[in-house]
Amino acid sequence: MTNTPWLNRILVSTLLSVVLFPMAVGVLIIVVVGPGAATTSTQPSATVSQVAVDLDTEGSMVRVRGFTVHSSLASNLAALLQDAEQDGIIMGGWGYRTTQRQIELRRKHCGTSHYAIYQKPSSQCSPPTARPGTSQHEVGLAIDFTCNGRSVNRVSSCFRWLQANAAQFGLKNLPSEPWHWSTTGR
Ligand SMILES: [Zn+2]
Repeated sequence: MTNTPWLNRILVSTLLSVVLFPMAVGVLIIVVVGPGAATTSTQPSATVSQVAVDLDTEGSMVRVRGFTVHSSLASNLAALLQDAEQDGIIMGGWGYRTTQRQIELRRKHCGTSHYAIYQKPSSQCSPPTARPGTSQHEVGLAIDFTCNGRSVNRVSSCFRWLQANAAQFGLKNLPSEPWHWSTTGR
């Protein structure tokens, strides 16, 4: 697929409308368009259109097609999603989460006591959930992917695609969780 200037303009206005709400609460909008945004991409052919939103409460987190991730991961994620799409693989999911959200998940997956929330080993929770302050999601460097609206599992086409391709975009899988991909593999 070739990207023409008018197509880029349509993409940018669509993306801009997606950030209108964050704009209302956000402080700074940075729009980065074109190959300049793809400097860390290993896919020179991919033209990345990306809208970055800096919220003063969330430091260097940016939005890439519905995912909130650390800015250092943004262009790689945008290129990964674009490549996947070209292969007919459409993925959604979540990236960054606050420590407050991590605590809520620990309460749900590990138990409600202080020990359960803050100390119990992740492996004793169902599903395994990192201790507050230690999750790669809390720094925007992990993504939980969905495939056709459901968590990625080992037999899904999305998992096979990620296994074959995610590494070239700097993402590794946590073996115990087929949906969880991060820069460290944890
Ligand atoms: Zn995860």
